[in-house]
Amino acid sequence: MVTRKDFDSPVPSTWCTGCGNYGIMNAVKMALAEQDIAPHQVVIFTGIGCGSKLPHYMKVSGFHTIHGRALPVATGARLANHGIKIMTIHGDGDGYGMGLGHMLHAIRRNIGIVDMVQNNRVYGLTKGQYSPTSDPGMRTPTSPEGAIDRPVPPLGLAIAAGATFVARGFPGELRHLVWLIGQALQHPGYALVDVLQPCVTFNRPSSYDFYNPRVYKLEEAGHDPTDKTAAWELAYEWGERIPIGIFYRVKGVPTYEEQVPALKAGPLVKQPVEKLRPEQIEELRAEVI
Ligand code: SF4
Repeated sequence: MVTRKDFDSPVPSTWCTGCGNYGIMNAVKMALAEQDIAPHQVVIFTGIGCGSKLPHYMKVSGFHTIHGRALPVATGARLANHGIKIMTIHGDGDGYGMGLGHMLHAIRRNIGIVDMVQNNRVYGLTKGQYSPTSDPGMRTPTSPEGAIDRPVPPLGLAIAAGATFVARGFPGELRHLVWLIGQALQHPGYALVDVLQPCVTFNRPSSYDFYNPRVYKLEEAGHDPTDKTAAWELAYEWGERIPIGIFYRVKGVPTYEEQVPALKAGPLVKQPVEKLRPEQIEELRAEVI
């Protein structure tokens, strides 16, 4: 039986005391254990940012890619071996800034990747610049008179782009976040899990104290996650009440992997490698050069 401790790593964390990433990492470990997914059965891809150090702090196969590129690298891994679980775990700068275009393409492919975004609404690693999800008016080193950009609405964008699983969690509701990640891991296609991540150092207004009294669970509010219109409206609810849970889930949409002819015989890594004869190599060279 897989346990949470199977994912513990001896590498010490450099995250600030009180960072929301601790809760998020605990939730990932607990969800993987509950889904009976062992460390060798999952690969976690990250980009650049505080949260992207996560695979260093877990005993799991990980790939620390360049900024914003976690999803395309993860896509390659998924096509090479769709017999294992593939997760991307990265911040809002990585996922909704540099990586936003990749998110839209992963959505339209409906490829089987659990895409978790540690949304602290600031660039933490580089010392507090405003990010794609920062509030307008937020004063930072790059917006000394207040941010004037309107924030990216990740959940509304994902629903509009055709995502088949769209959710939001909060590490202050740990059991609920574990459940959400488990649901995402069970989803066959692309699954977005946006996580409200307190950054206690560079975004103090978005703290546990801010979120705790505001978050409410969609499952307890009677939301029907197959209702796209309701999901769309809830994706924009923000203020005194902030919804967490599964906003939208649709089943039966074919995944990318199901449609790629080369994968019909199973994961590529398990298929026999046929050696090309010299004359076949020459034929290919003549065709493409
Ligand atoms: Fe976490 Fe913010 Fe510290 Fe980065 S700067 S480790 S996001 S609290």
